[in-house]
Amino acid sequence: MVRFRGALRAACCWSRRMCFRVEEGILRFTEKHREKFVGLVHPFSALFLLGLIGFLTVYELYYVLPLITDPQGIWHKFNWLLGIYVVFNILGNWWLGFVRNTSVESLPAKRQHPAVGEAHLWHYCTTCQKLVPPRSWHCRLCNLCILKRDHHCTFTGNCIGHTNQRYFLGFLFHLTLGSGQALVYNALLTWENKAFMVSDPLLLLAQDHPQDAEFEWQYTVAAIFKLSLFLFMVPLGMFALQILMVQRNSTCYMILDRSYDVGWRRNFDLVLGKRRFWIFLSPTIKSPLPTDGTQWIQKYMV
Ligand SMILES: [Zn+2]
Ligand SMILES: [Zn+2]
Repeated sequence: MVRFRGALRAACCWSRRMCFRVEEGILRFTEKHREKFVGLVHPFSALFLLGLIGFLTVYELYYVLPLITDPQGIWHKFNWLLGIYVVFNILGNWWLGFVRNTSVESLPAKRQHPAVGEAHLWHYCTTCQKLVPPRSWHCRLCNLCILKRDHHCTFTGNCIGHTNQRYFLGFLFHLTLGSGQALVYNALLTWENKAFMVSDPLLLLAQDHPQDAEFEWQYTVAAIFKLSLFLFMVPLGMFALQILMVQRNSTCYMILDRSYDVGWRRNFDLVLGKRRFWIFLSPTIKSPLPTDGTQWIQKYMV
């Protein structure tokens, strides 16, 4: 038993060391080839995302919806309006998340330096070679210090931080809603075609199974249903993680740090701003934030 525990501890230490080395290797690589990496990965991710949204919108609204609803009926029109609203919110939040600068450089010149009595709360960034506000961390891909840095997002092509997290939340919420809408349509189409059990790859290998046109149609419908289930689960998981971070006033960068947790209502206000959950209606709704991202109340102060 003692020997087993020793071996387990050694295996844990080894795997931790390996993870650290891999992470260091990736960070060193991205730092060394920053411009190439950013120049390739960001446009590729954005094109992939836009292509996927475009394909799903056309496929679901033009092709699947008329098969499961009456094209002249009110239900069909309602679903079209819902689809347009969701796509508008996905693209609007995505765009504003991309253009909104959340770096320390976005602050007015006088707020880029600590005010009297604040210097002890700020820390030094060795890359930018200056003091930066609490919760600001340097991003090796943006090559900037980011206010309340959460993570670097390759799909929005920048860091998610203090001033654009609201848009990222809106983006994920509507991606979940849109992919959920697609999932329901595909589930109904799969049900109507009695194709729920058809997309098992083993069926394709079975020699005696009739692989006629009807089977191929059922297989396609069921395969797209499974794909849309996956496309629903990914943004749902990411949205749930983001909500958890906001509710705790934590960040993906410092995931276990609960020292800024000032109660869930105030935590949400710090990200969503004055209009709170109304921001999910449209990315154009103005919702001023209660802080500029340089001053943070800690739990023990409340
Ligand atoms: Zn920096
Ligand atoms: Zn970044």
